[in-house]
Amino acid sequence: MPEETMLAPPGRRPVFRFAPSPNGPLHLGHALSAILNHEMAQAVGGRFLLRIENIDLARCTPDHEEAIYRDLTWLGLRWEQPVRRQSEHFGDYGAALDRLREMELVYPAFMTRGDVKSAVAAHEAVGEVWPRDPDGSPLYPDADRKRSETERRRLLAEGSRHAWRLDMAEALARVARPLTWRETGEGCEEEMQADPAAWGDVILSRSDAPSSYHLSVVVDDALQGITHVVRGVDLYHATSVHRLLQELLSLPEPVYHHHRLILGPDGRKLSKSEQSTGLAALRAAGASPADIRRRIGL
Ligand code: GLU
Repeated sequence: MPEETMLAPPGRRPVFRFAPSPNGPLHLGHALSAILNHEMAQAVGGRFLLRIENIDLARCTPDHEEAIYRDLTWLGLRWEQPVRRQSEHFGDYGAALDRLREMELVYPAFMTRGDVKSAVAAHEAVGEVWPRDPDGSPLYPDADRKRSETERRRLLAEGSRHAWRLDMAEALARVARPLTWRETGEGCEEEMQADPAAWGDVILSRSDAPSSYHLSVVVDDALQGITHVVRGVDLYHATSVHRLLQELLSLPEPVYHHHRLILGPDGRKLSKSEQSTGLAALRAAGASPADIRRRIGL
């Protein structure tokens, strides 16, 4: 990557981060992401941070977190302390949500995953096509967005379980367009068009966790002064939502680099449940850090 594409704003050292979720063992794909971040940071005299994305308290465990530290240390990576652990910062995400609430850009969403599934199935049963997001999930129905304030207040007062969702149409009306981001690749830099509308009314705070991936990642990247987001291409489309949230919350815009994925023998992206490509399992089977680098094409 040529140096000019890696420059941080004047006077600031570039800041990179690797941000795994401790909900399973790290695999070869994580190794690629972590090593790329580390090497890109070193190449430009930047900082390398590790962030533990553990807002999902039901699935993330201290054991998996410890394993992350072990695997990354074994790979030869070193990161700054203290490590930011998202579970210790729910207040920051809550403050961002409050701000969007004050801007009247979020609404309480009462439908469960099961409710959405049945609503979509009912439409599809009569031959209607239900729009889906870039990950293939159905867009959230508009019933909750259209609810009156009185009814919302009644449901909230009754203690009905709810999430908070972004009113996408209203949010888009508040930002200057076209919404874009800077994407760096192998020796090039391009301006990409963001398309947050493709995600519909995204979830910003879940009924079982006081934040969501999208909200916490954007808040943390800003609070940690991240200048370069280097992550797998599976998160490419999520960048559209992140850019929208950054604009709404007046947060700085990092440069993005979405790297190739490591695929399994079945041609699909690796999963944490697949033991054979787990870093700890490979280490136990005698692999060295150099073997890992070879396997991921570095
Ligand atoms: N925590 C996310 C993951 O493990 C990565 C978030 C990011 O890099 O933006 O997939």
